[in-house]
Order: sequence, then C-alpha cells, then structure tokens
Amino acid sequence: MEEKKLVIALAGNPNSGKTTLFNALTGSTQYVGNWPGVTVEKKEGKLKKHDNVMIEDLPGIYSLSPYTLEEVVSRNFLVNEKPDAILNIVDGTNLERNLYLTTQLLEIGIPVVVAVNMMDLVRKNGDKINMEQLSKELNCPVVEISALKNDGVMKAAEMAIEAARGVHKEPMHTFSGAVEHAIAHIEDCCLSDKAQNEKRWYAIKVFERDSKVLEALKLDKSVLDSCETLIVKAEQELDDDAESIITNERYIYIANLLKGIYVKNSSIKETTSDKIDKIVTNRFLALPIFALVMWCVYFVSIATVGTMATDWVNDGLFGDGYFLFGQGREAFDEASEAFALADEEAAAFLEAAQEQGFVMLDEDAVEVLDMEGFEALEIPFEVRDEEGNVEEIVTVDYATYEEASLVEEPDPSDFGHWVNGLPVSLEAGLEAVNAAPWLSDLLLNGIVAGIGAVLGFLPQMLVLFFFLAILEGCGYMARIAFVMDRIFRKFGLSGKSFIPMLVGTGCSVPGIMASRTIENEHDRRMTVITTSFIPCSAKLPVIALIAGAFFDNSGTVATSAYFIGIASVIVTGIMLKKTKMFAGDPTPFVMELPAYHWPTAGNIFRSMWERGSSFVKKAGSVILLATIFIWFTSSYGFGADGFGAVSQEESLLAGIGNAIAWLFVPLGWGHWQAAVAAITGLIAKENVVSTLGVLYGGMEEVAENGWQIFGSMFNAFGNNPLAGYSFLVFNLLCAPCFAAIGAIKREMGNAKWTWFAVLYQCIFAYVVALSVYQLGMLMQGGSFNVFTVLAIVNVVVIGYFLFRPKPKFDVK
Ligand code: GDP
Ligand code: MG
Repeated sequence: MEEKKLVIALAGNPNSGKTTLFNALTGSTQYVGNWPGVTVEKKEGKLKKHDNVMIEDLPGIYSLSPYTLEEVVSRNFLVNEKPDAILNIVDGTNLERNLYLTTQLLEIGIPVVVAVNMMDLVRKNGDKINMEQLSKELNCPVVEISALKNDGVMKAAEMAIEAARGVHKEPMHTFSGAVEHAIAHIEDCCLSDKAQNEKRWYAIKVFERDSKVLEALKLDKSVLDSCETLIVKAEQELDDDAESIITNERYIYIANLLKGIYVKNSSIKETTSDKIDKIVTNRFLALPIFALVMWCVYFVSIATVGTMATDWVNDGLFGDGYFLFGQGREAFDEASEAFALADEEAAAFLEAAQEQGFVMLDEDAVEVLDMEGFEALEIPFEVRDEEGNVEEIVTVDYATYEEASLVEEPDPSDFGHWVNGLPVSLEAGLEAVNAAPWLSDLLLNGIVAGIGAVLGFLPQMLVLFFFLAILEGCGYMARIAFVMDRIFRKFGLSGKSFIPMLVGTGCSVPGIMASRTIENEHDRRMTVITTSFIPCSAKLPVIALIAGAFFDNSGTVATSAYFIGIASVIVTGIMLKKTKMFAGDPTPFVMELPAYHWPTAGNIFRSMWERGSSFVKKAGSVILLATIFIWFTSSYGFGADGFGAVSQEESLLAGIGNAIAWLFVPLGWGHWQAAVAAITGLIAKENVVSTLGVLYGGMEEVAENGWQIFGSMFNAFGNNPLAGYSFLVFNLLCAPCFAAIGAIKREMGNAKWTWFAVLYQCIFAYVVALSVYQLGMLMQGGSFNVFTVLAIVNVVVIGYFLFRPKPKFDVK
C-alpha cells in the first residue's frame, strides 16, 4: 500500500541537540555546534528505514516570536508549510526554559511529540523526571532520549509518525480569564477562515499584537478595533502589556507544572563541569588559558605529528619516493651518507689534481696529463657534520680516490620496499609513452607541483581539524564565546559576533552566514566584515608554509595568526563603532552553556571528514584550474621569436606580476611571484600555496632541510623571515576568497556594502602588514626611510581612531 509522505519537523531551543538527533535519524552529516546560529537554514533528510518520512532540522529558537531570523524561519515553516508532526527536542537538564517553547508549539495545531533529550546527563546528575505525569499534563506523548548516545531516537521518530497519523490533541494550558475572553472573541470574529486547530495560535498572536501575523491576516479596521478594546481591557485588569502577560503566564504555568514532575538531586552542589568553568572562564585566566590551548593545538598539528605526516607527503608521495613502512630507511640513509662522502672526497681530489696540472677535467671525463704526479698526490679533506662544522680532517691519497670513485650511488630499492614518489612514476610513465614536452611540463611542473603543494598540507590540516572538533564537541568553544562576549562588550561589541567567527574557523562562508542571528543591523554588518579575519582552514596551508619556510615550523607563528585575527576584529570593531554607520548598543547575548562532555568519535570524524573533504574537493576543482592557469602564464610569453615557451622571468605572469609588485615593496615582498600569489589567493586561499608551489617548485635548488620550495621561497623573500611574516599577515587579513565575498554580498544584500567590506579588508591588511614589516625592520636595526615614516603615521592614525572619544549620534 502506498503510504502518504510524512514531514516531521525537529524544533527546539538552540543547543538542545536537534542537529545531533537529525544526524542520528537520517545518517546525515550536518554540522553540530555548541552555539546558536549554526543551523540558520533548515536542513532536510530522509528518516532511516522509512522512505516516505522526511525529517526537517529547524534553526534553534526560544520562542515563536519574530525577533530573530531563526525564529522567523522556524515559525514560517511550522505555520505556513504545516509539517505533519513536530518532534520537540527539549534539553532535560534545562526543562523549565525549554518547555516555554513547547507551550507555544502545542498551540499551533500540529501534533507534537516531546523528546526529552540529554537523559544521560539527567541520570548522571541524579535528577528525576516523571515522564508519564509530564505527558498527561501537556496532553502530548513524551519520550526520553539521548541523541548523543543514540538512545531512544528511533522510538521518538516512530512516536512522531504515530502522532502524525493520529488525531489532534487540544493544548491543556489556559490563560487567565480576561485573556481567554479576548482570545475567544478574536477566534470568533477574526479567524473564521482558519481551521479549528489553528485558531488558538493565531488568536494568541493577535492578542500579542504580533505585527507579522496581523499583516498576514489583513483584518478589517472595525474588527481590529473591537479586538483592541478587549485586549486593552485585559491589559488594564492584569496591569501589564499584552505580550508580557502571555509570557509571564506561560512561565508561571511551567513552573507549577514541573512541581513534582522534576525532582532535582539536591545532594550535588557543584558539578565537575562547574568546577572546570570556574577556572577556564575566570576573569583573568580565561584568555591566557585559551591562548595556551590554541598554542598546544597548533604546536601539535603544525610542528609535531602533523609535520611528520606532511613531510612524508611532500618528500615521499609528492617527492622522490618513500620506503614502505619506513623499513630500510636507516640502512639507505647510511649508504647515502657514505656515498656523499666518497663523492666529495673524489671531487676534491680531482680538483686539487687539476690545480696542480696533473689532470684536465672536462665535464665528467678525466684526462690524465701526469700520471706520476697524480698518483703521488695527497690532499687534506675536511669532513663536515650536518651543520657544516668541520668534524675531522683526513688525508685523501690516490688509493682513497680510486676506492671512492668506485662507490656507487645507492639505489633505495636495494634496501627495502621502495615506492617511487608520484612525480617520479609520472615522469617515467610520460617518458615511456613519449608524451609531448609541454604535456610533461604541465603535469609535472604545473599540476603536481601546484596541487601537490596544497595537498601536502592535508595531514597537518586533519590533525588540526581533529583537535578543533574536540574543542567544539566537548563544549569548550562555547565557553570561549562566553568569555569573548565579556571582552567584546567592553568595546561595544557583542559576543554574538564571536560565534560567526568560531564557525568561520572551518570556512568563512558558513561563518558569514551565521551572522544572520544578530538582530541589530549595524552589528550584523560589522560581523560580516570582520568574520574572515579569523583564519579559515584554507588559510592554514599558507600559515603552515610560512611557518615552515621561515620559522622552522614554529607553532607560535600559527597561534599568532589566530590572535592577529581576533585583535583585528576588536580593533575594527572599536574603530567602526565610533562612526555613525555602526553606532549603537551591542546586541544582547544569551546562551546556554552545555555541560562538558566527551565528544563522540562519530562527531569528530564527521567534522574532520567534512572539512577535509571540502579541502580535497577544492584542490581538485578551483585550485586545479587556477594551477593550470598559473602554469600556462608562467611558462609562456612573448620571447625573442614571438609567442612561445619562455623562461619564467619573461613569462606573461611575470609581466603581470611585475606590473603590480611595486605595490608590495613597502611590505617587504615586492617581487612578482609573491604579488601573483596574493592575487590568486582571492580565488581560493589555498592558491597562495599552489601558486608558490608552481613558481618556486621548478627552481633546482635543494633546500637544507624540509621541503624544496621552502628554500627557494626563503631566498626569494630576501632571506628575511619578517618579509615572510608580513606576507602572511597580508594574506590573512585581506579580502577573502570569491566564495566568501559572495557570501558577504548575500548577507549585506547590496553592492555598496560589499565593496565597503572588501576595500576595508584590503586596506586594513595592507596597513597592518606594512606597519609590521617596517617597524619590525626598524627594531632589527634597519634604516629609517620614507616607509618607516608611513608605518608610524599608520600606527598613529589607528591609535587616534581607537582612542578618540565616542562621538554622539542621534541613535533611535
Ligand atoms: P542544536 O543546536 O539543537 O542543533 O544542538 P546540537 O545538535 O548542535 O547539540 C548541541 C550540543 O549538545 C552538542 O555538543 C552535542 O554533542 C550535545 N548533545 C546533543 N545531544 C546530547 C545528549 O543526548 N547528551 C549529551 N550529553 N549531549 C548531547
Ligand atoms: Mg543545530
């Protein structure tokens, strides 16, 4: 029998576990977050094992009033699209606040099933909830679940299906006499065209004078007036405004209802969670602890575990090759060292022989002029250790030379199971099929060099995503939002602005979208502008590249990038708040802090997978195209005989780069390769790395340690770490990638504000990078020049904007 398709909506407060439940019910991988604003749009998925049941994950809401965009989205869906049933998730550890929404949901006229979530915590706390009694009082089915532990979730869904097919149940709650009187009147005279079960909700909204509902109902003036008289009468009788009357009566009703149903375990005074919070949200310690935590995370992922894996990918997979499971590596390294020593000895001996006129060297051939002298020659040879210090001096004579020249270069495959690196195999393959030279060049020096450079950072990224997922999953990041609110508020900013930034550590696009939850338009615009200052995952390879090439993989560089982002947000906030465009009081910020808990492996894996796979997908699409473009424009140009393959320095790209590179001279990296990389970064930030990979990868210069482009890059930046850092700062703060600029445009809703955001970001990035570089150079004893003056002027101007008194505006 063909059954009717059912739609079940998940509704509940933010952080009650809707998305966790949604993922459990549908096997989907939606982002589980600890803060409001993560689910701004509704998500849809098929219930497992039920082909004809759709589950909708709605944004978290506290009420059905149209105060925030999430409330509007959820309410419109429930009221206009009428799902077949509502599965109302309530947080069992916070019943009183959560049931406020429940009382409203029960009035819409759609069957409701209440799922009391977080039962694992309720039980652990030793609290008791009488479910049977609760169900009786609310006149709707109640089920206890733990979405996180996957406990009772299918039963909840099945109960919702049953409720959807069942008959409608009347809400039990009634307001006081005067209110009910007005509601009855409104139902009679305004709502005759509404279905019986919807009337009550509309009537209450009319009573509350909800502007959106009144607009939609299009009531006659005379009808409205008659209702208004009754509303005013109730207001006078109860001495409060209509909306507050409804709110208060709901809370009083819930408080009474819970007496006897909800028994809190009084023996627990302070939970472990409270104890941890005392320390990590401490007024003075919170920020240093956060800095330390972030430093540890970056240290482990960029400097230790992650680097080992990344080195393998860069040197092995995308380099010469590697030993399977590392077996044979040691013996091979020893043999290679012996070979290198012998090779050097032989070369030094030959050179000395040539100097004395015993032999003539011609490329590899040796022509002996004076055999006797040659055989009698003895030279001192300095054996150096890894750092280049002389270890000992040995004498090399003819016999040693002969012996040394017989040592063969070791073949890695003799020592263990050697796997050739991708470029090596590819090159051999291309040679075997006689591929055209340009094709080999495109594949090896273009695509493999560029994409390889980006993918090479994947292991580091995954380790980082792993830790970030844990920090988010256990509830720590929610505390940080709370801590940041305290700090932001001092500067007239709201902690609400910090949530988009936390989301933005994954990708700025959802981060920028999460700014929708901020009701105040000024604050929302400012958040949209500043969200991309926080390093997103695409900027991490850039950070790792700079840390590797200039700072020996220091975790501190990466942590500093994070805090430069936060500082930029605060500085921008303070400056802009003092202009007329952004003035106003900060948006209030209310958030439940969920108790600390172990994140599930599933959630961590999902988060890693989601971020990691989008990284790989991007490498295979946008970055691939950009890489091909970079390869082409850097290999071709107008040379001596017209258009054709030319050296990099004569290429089209060099021409374009040189035309803009002067702009970046004051920032310390005024060469065309870096300028081009900064521009391609606007397409996707990973392009900064892939571009440098193509442009520096081809240079035959073996780096001292680590990976090939590190060395070339270090030289190109004038061997100056400060120039590298300035390059990093600029790329972190300047306009984000196209996708994020698109998101900015969508949220701003007009081109003027989008341009303002992009220009502001670019100018700000330029000013900060310039100041960092010039003042840093000055401190390192560099010369005082016109740019130094410019940097000082910058600092003074920013200082003025930061500390000038707040001008007065007539803010409504
Ligand atoms: P949403 O805002 O309603 O979508 O809530 P989420 O699904 O994002 O969950 C908020 C937080 O509560 C996450 O950290 C979840 O891991 C956690 N959570 C969800 N369900 C449970 C549960 O049953 N028990 C516990 N202990 N935590 C849960
Ligand atoms: Mg959610």
